[in-house]
Amino acid sequence: MMEKSLSDTLFDKAYPEILENIKSAENSSPYGNKARLLAATKTVPVTVINEAIAKGLDLIGENKVQELKEKFPHLDKRAEIHFIGNLQTNKVKEVVPMVSMIHSVSSEKLALEISKQCQKLDKDMDILLQINIGNEDSKSGFDAEEIFTVCEKISKLPRLFVKGLMAIPPICENEAENSKYFCKMRQLFIDIEAKKMDNVNMVYLSMGMSGDYMEAVRCGANIVRIGSSLFGARNYSK
Ligand SMILES: *Cc1c(COP(=O)(O)O)cnc(C)c1O
Repeated sequence: MMEKSLSDTLFDKAYPEILENIKSAENSSPYGNKARLLAATKTVPVTVINEAIAKGLDLIGENKVQELKEKFPHLDKRAEIHFIGNLQTNKVKEVVPMVSMIHSVSSEKLALEISKQCQKLDKDMDILLQINIGNEDSKSGFDAEEIFTVCEKISKLPRLFVKGLMAIPPICENEAENSKYFCKMRQLFIDIEAKKMDNVNMVYLSMGMSGDYMEAVRCGANIVRIGSSLFGARNYSK
């Protein structure tokens, strides 16, 4: 990774603006939700992340196991670390000790493995169930139709706490189209909570990224995951 400092990124200007935008979206949401900013820090060097943490950032999300492993020992532990990316079962045991929540639980097999590793490591884990809200072949996640059954099964696994839902909706042409998916998510969130399943609490609704987070907040999101608007376009070359 390139050595960069925070001042080479958009952060100083973007961070206060994004916090303001979140506030104004909260104010126009009918649901009374408050949204927490999760910085999606893939490709952002750990030195830069730590400078951002020193300036108040308190939640980061990584989405590749290898990258998280490399950064983890050096990360300022004042920030909470979540895992937000596709997770293979054989990588679960590496991720569990490093994070306090996994947003991207997208199969029963994965949930089972997280539970197994949590038992071994004597650790509880908060998880969000990822919903493939646009039914896209290219995306992981549960179908909306199966989520009640799945949720019930997963909620019985030791050491796991189902705390909400996460989605990455299809790329949309406009806010109205976005809001259709976000509203569907919020309805699922409400419907699952209404079932009052043991060990299931719909606390977090994780949706909205750089291009659509304000709309997500207006539709009830309480965690938004923002990368490029916060740090600038990602550069994947090393
Ligand atoms: C990268 C990433 C984001 C943030 O995307 P931006 O468009 O850069 O804000 C959000 N969620 C997940 C799962 C990601 O991998």
